[in-house]
Amino acid sequence: MLLKSILNRVQSHSSFVYGAVRWREQQSRMVLDIEIRPRRGGKPVCSGCGRRGPGYDLLPARRFEFVPLWGIAVFFVYAMRRVDCPHCGVKVERVPWAEGKNHLTTTYGWFLARWARRLSWKEVAEVFQTSWDNVFRSVKMAVAWGLSQRNLENVTAIGMDEIAWKKGHKYLTLVYQIDAGCRRLLWVGKERTSKTLRQFFKEFGQEHTARLRFICSDMWKPYLRIVAEVAGQALHVLDRFHIMTHVSKAIDQVRAKEAKELRAKGQQPVLTGSRWCLLKRPENLSEKQTVKLRELLTLNLRTVRAYLLKEDLQRFWSYTTPGWAGRFLDEWCRRTMRSRLVPMKKVAHMLRNHRELLLHWFRAKGQIALGAVEGFNNKAKVTSRKAYGYRSFDVLKIALYHTLGDLPQPKATHRFC
Ligand SMILES: [Zn+2]
Repeated sequence: MLLKSILNRVQSHSSFVYGAVRWREQQSRMVLDIEIRPRRGGKPVCSGCGRRGPGYDLLPARRFEFVPLWGIAVFFVYAMRRVDCPHCGVKVERVPWAEGKNHLTTTYGWFLARWARRLSWKEVAEVFQTSWDNVFRSVKMAVAWGLSQRNLENVTAIGMDEIAWKKGHKYLTLVYQIDAGCRRLLWVGKERTSKTLRQFFKEFGQEHTARLRFICSDMWKPYLRIVAEVAGQALHVLDRFHIMTHVSKAIDQVRAKEAKELRAKGQQPVLTGSRWCLLKRPENLSEKQTVKLRELLTLNLRTVRAYLLKEDLQRFWSYTTPGWAGRFLDEWCRRTMRSRLVPMKKVAHMLRNHRELLLHWFRAKGQIALGAVEGFNNKAKVTSRKAYGYRSFDVLKIALYHTLGDLPQPKATHRFC
């Protein structure tokens, strides 16, 4: 079978035909050059207006990299025609296998972009012997296409979150769709200010905002204020994940202070290495950590009391009705306020102040994917930690959309990967 017949099966162009296939040496490896010719009598398409027009002249042949075959790099070789367009003047023709000045075929771009969902960009570049830049540009193309084609009609629940990047010096605001049947990253914004949030709602548009029924976020004041202002019809739900993060931070403060005091008194460093035992859920602890936790729990430490309060608060989320959950919360806050653990008291105070919004969580139960924000937060952190080239906001943004955006892809006759 000729290579041409395979090509005609996987990627045929109605106005062009494949010609000769030749070996060529490129940087001491053998590559394949595949000639492309216009079909006889076919007129070129103007890249300005998309209409066919008479040919003007022929440019020198160009190479467009295609999907490699058995580890052999493949190039299309084609001499672009210029069109004498009655509407646009003399323009280079548009070809179906590549966009503009791109030296990668669109098919190869999608090929690299798809692999870049499974491997890091650096790995994709290595595996396919191409440059990081080619991988990046392909992902960028895929993201731009996906964003322009995605449908936001079904968004009724969103979750707002932020992650630190650049070693914690900068923040990103992330907005996710958290409808029970559809979860994806919707938006990435620089910083985490009221301005960022307003920018989201502006870009999301009034029509889509009016459809929102649930908005899930942290207790941060600007969130509460802006959401109430622009999407007052939606039920504002405070996220379990964010609340428990506040509690964990409080435990951390109690522990750090107590460990310092114990050290000052010259007592055994019982709290050393205890951090994760106290912050992780008991079911996620390793065997060693479980032993450590058991040992800690026998001691009458402030840290232990804070830990027990946190574990008790976990029960709050298992209630099914806002009424009972509210009663539990009130009782928990009362106990915590008497605990003499200042950081924990602060949390209790904050929870009391947001009692109604907290109880919305139970009203939203079953209707939205309540655990989604935490899951996305973890994935977003992993993506942003992959250091290569994500130092710029725009690159990180593209990486996040690519991995978490669940963006649509064009329908192709053949899937290369
Ligand atoms: Zn034209």
